[in-house]
Amino acid sequence: MKIDHIGIAVKSIDESLKFYKDTLGLELKGTEQLDERGLKVAFLKTGESDIELLESISMDSNIHKFIEKKGEGIHHIALEVDNVEEKKESMEKKDAKFIGEASMGAGGKKIVFIHPKSTNGVLMELCQHLEGENE
Ligand code: ZN
Repeated sequence: MKIDHIGIAVKSIDESLKFYKDTLGLELKGTEQLDERGLKVAFLKTGESDIELLESISMDSNIHKFIEKKGEGIHHIALEVDNVEEKKESMEKKDAKFIGEASMGAGGKKIVFIHPKSTNGVLMELCQHLEGENE
């Protein structure tokens, strides 16, 4: 199981790209707006994994609440799995707690979040690249 990406909550993707793209020199793979999640995201390539910058575009988004409470910073770590639903089911049998059901995330991936109660305080995402989509 590899780390697919690390999600970082930022106030402004445009501002953050000045560092991540221009100063650090990471390659921007693309940006995407997820209206139903109230988010704008940008993916930057870092070896086999990505950095996902998450900007809130709605007062109701999780990222808005996260930044209000904790400020900018690491929001979640995402692990790639073959099948999100199967993995969730097998983990729930071992008492892992999840936040909601699997749904569509950025980049044509199916995702679900593992509750930080189960992961020693780290929000973790399981993600599955759907067929026909590539990283
Ligand atoms: Zn993510």
